[in-house]
Amino acid sequence: MPVNTEAYFEIKSELDRNRITLVAVSKTKPVADIQALYELGQRDFGENYVQEMAEKASQLPADIRWHFIGHLQTNKVKLIAPFVQLIQAVDSLKLLNEISKQGGRQGRVIDCLLQVHIAQEETKFGLDETGLAEIMNRVKTEKPANVRVSGLMGMASLTGDLQTVREEFRRLKRLYDEYLPDFAAPSILSMGMSSDYRIAVEEGSGMVRIGSLLFGERN
Ligand SMILES: *Cc1c(COP(=O)(O)O)cnc(C)c1O
Repeated sequence: MPVNTEAYFEIKSELDRNRITLVAVSKTKPVADIQALYELGQRDFGENYVQEMAEKASQLPADIRWHFIGHLQTNKVKLIAPFVQLIQAVDSLKLLNEISKQGGRQGRVIDCLLQVHIAQEETKFGLDETGLAEIMNRVKTEKPANVRVSGLMGMASLTGDLQTVREEFRRLKRLYDEYLPDFAAPSILSMGMSSDYRIAVEEGSGMVRIGSLLFGERN
């Protein structure tokens, strides 16, 4: 499957007009597809699996900004700590502390987003409002040196009910605004995927993560 060049330019210019960052989600897709989009100018790519991301990063240009968007196990942080741009799905203090520790070993400060559970489905990872408040509190008081919490990420329900999706994004935006003074600048609100990014944009997203519209459906 070749990448959808036409869709890429269309989505990219639509997002550029609104100053929204496009993360091209390349999970399960071959290095050649990433290279193709890279040659069109794309630099931000998102992956869900640690080994897959590390493997791809080693074969692709060094100026790619790699976003880790999947569930991250603490024992795997060290594999991506040397090069990851943004870890988007932090949902525990334990993970945040490990990222800071590995950031320290690499002599860098790693940017993170906290993942908030906004969908109705139970299977999705993420913090509830209490968990979010707890982590934000600890970050404020303990100030882990090698990690920076710059915002929030969330996934809406997989449903055709667009009003539900909109309300979930709205809730995430409200939480984001509430904690905005505590986020490291430049702060980021990551919400919206192929099926719902337009709604996310209308509700105030600053970063969208789009896979299938660019690379085709995954198997
Ligand atoms: C796979 C994935 C995406 C992209 O999904 P598409 O529907 O292909 O655009 C976005 N965010 C996360 C967290 C993902 O796992």
